[in-house]
Amino acid sequence: MAVEKKAIPMREQSAQERIKNFNEVPLGYNENEALQEAARCMQCPKKPCVEGCPVHIDIPAFIKALKEKNFQKAIDIVHDSDSLPCITGRVCPQEEQCQAVCVMKKLGEPISIGRLERFLADRDLDRRIKNNAGSRPSSAARGLKVAVVGSGPAGLTCAAELAKKGYDVTVFEGYHKLGGVLVYGIPEFRLPKAIVAAEIDLLQELGVRFVTNALIGRALTIEDLFKEGFKAIFVGSGAGLPNFMGIPGENLIGVYSANEFLTRVNLMKAYTFPEVDTPVKRGKFVAVVGGGNVAMDSARTALRLGAEKVYLIYRRSEKEMPAREEEIIRAREEGIDFRLLTNPLRYIGDEKGFIKQVECIKMELGEPDASGRRSPVPLKGSEFILDIDEAIVAIGNTPNPIIARTTAGLKIKRKGEIEADDDGKTSLPGVFAGGDAVTGAATVITAMGAGRKAAAAIDAYVKQKA
Ligand code: FAD
Ligand code: SF4
Repeated sequence: MAVEKKAIPMREQSAQERIKNFNEVPLGYNENEALQEAARCMQCPKKPCVEGCPVHIDIPAFIKALKEKNFQKAIDIVHDSDSLPCITGRVCPQEEQCQAVCVMKKLGEPISIGRLERFLADRDLDRRIKNNAGSRPSSAARGLKVAVVGSGPAGLTCAAELAKKGYDVTVFEGYHKLGGVLVYGIPEFRLPKAIVAAEIDLLQELGVRFVTNALIGRALTIEDLFKEGFKAIFVGSGAGLPNFMGIPGENLIGVYSANEFLTRVNLMKAYTFPEVDTPVKRGKFVAVVGGGNVAMDSARTALRLGAEKVYLIYRRSEKEMPAREEEIIRAREEGIDFRLLTNPLRYIGDEKGFIKQVECIKMELGEPDASGRRSPVPLKGSEFILDIDEAIVAIGNTPNPIIARTTAGLKIKRKGEIEADDDGKTSLPGVFAGGDAVTGAATVITAMGAGRKAAAAIDAYVKQKA
């Protein structure tokens, strides 16, 4: 039988419809669509897709079980390597990972591995919520307390793995809401908050305790946690400190870091102000600076808040953009005005200190830099001005220094990342770390992988000490 070369498309809200709401854009496969897509998988003996997956999910095995309609077996295989598949199925850059090396790519389109993962995970989450079925922890290590700092994907995964091993796990989160970037960064239209909340509920059923508004390094330090009887500590505090370019005008009213802008909208529901206390500017002419997922999310959020024009200013070409390809396509469909090979030089304000313009310069690509990407070089005399009333800077984040500054002996790298080995061991006995706090801004799946490895290392450490 001939193999279908094209992937089964996923239904989604149309661009005209979706820019008026914050609802999720792609709607997911139904059973029939998932079965048709699974039928395209060739069950390659060499399994290149498994190598392409950062946590090595046995992809052909779960697709085979799906094909056979053995949905429970299929999701169990996914769960063996990935504890949050509802989330990774939506936000993992599959096109650069498992799908980039899928054999079907050579014949047409790769298998839509992420969409199949999402189908199975959503189905399973529904079932687990209905049955209230978080698997109970084993009692082997009961009574041994482990602390997790931060409730992003690294912390949640580490907590889940340790709770399953029977540890008494407490997660300390600085914000009033749990989930890290999954809730305050990635917008509702890409990752519904209800999904993250449901995953966290299931962790609570597993026995994990959560303490919110608990910024470690302020009221309580790492040392205090040990004094309170925690046998080991995992630090998954992320990379929440925004970078700025250091150009004139960044202090003008109406210039936001993407972090602040997205946090105000996502976490504090600023779009319903004055019903909530936190306002956010609803710019009509908005410039977003950057080319990653954060920039794309900021631009599309500004549009949904009512902007007439959103410029996306990026100093390289589209080929070098780090954002996910499908999000770039969606941003274009929604009408974001891409100003590529362009860099801001300064923001210009009015007499009251409000931003009114951004001066930019055109760029061309020169020789490759340390990252291997061709470095952008300004084109003399190409300066021009855009009229704007809001600017959002999305050019990267570094780890917040609070834990490093308040933890004597914790070794830190040049840009503030915590030094840790592959298993998450830091320079301090009993302190483990992983995710963006160690790697700098990266991806959900790498953070989860780090949380999982650290949980195994913590288990070994605590058992050896006991
Ligand atoms: P985080 O998710 O940052 O979580 C850290 C948590 O620790 C936070 O809740 C923070 O409040 C808390 N914390 C910090 N310090 C303390 C302290 N001292 N005490 C207590 N709590 C503390 N990745 C993808 O794979 N795909 C995408 O599509 C994607 N899109 C993104 C879009 C945006 C807007 C952003 C910002 C990031 C995106 N990423 C994406 C990156 C991804 O979200 C991160 O790499 C990932 O969340 C890192 O996980 P983490 O657990 O290390 O940190
Ligand atoms: Fe299936 Fe693609 Fe993996 Fe081959 S490489 S087993 S076709 S998903």
